[in-house]
Amino acid sequence: MAEREATCACGGLRVTLAGEPLLVSTCCCTRCQRRTGSFFGVTVYFRPAQVTGRVGEAAEFRRPGSEATFRFCPRCGSSVWWAFDDPAEDIVGVAGGAFADPRLPGPHRMTHTATGHPFVTSPQGIPTYEDGPPD
Ligand SMILES: [Zn+2]
Ligand SMILES: [Zn+2]
Repeated sequence: MAEREATCACGGLRVTLAGEPLLVSTCCCTRCQRRTGSFFGVTVYFRPAQVTGRVGEAAEFRRPGSEATFRFCPRCGSSVWWAFDDPAEDIVGVAGGAFADPRLPGPHRMTHTATGHPFVTSPQGIPTYEDGPPD
């Protein structure tokens, strides 16, 4: 089974995931832009049971008015993974860039394009949504 490691910029905070991700999603909402310092966020979704290892101390940021609590490295500031407040959401999100692995599957969808920069485009053929994805 494939095993992947997501790592913060300094290497102090790491999470290991077993198996393939459920979904890779890119998001152009303004909250993701501010959180990442980039023009869009990339979330790689796994089941919590796929988390096979965690190393390092994580600081937490609960985004106001949001549904998620982000875990980031207190030394370098990189977000590495996040969980959703609703326990029915049986998923964990991991920062796509934290894998630094070009073999990671590409995005399956792009959301919140209404607030995205016009030069940020999605790969051909994936669904795009002006706002959030449909449930
Ligand atoms: Zn770090
Ligand atoms: Zn977003």
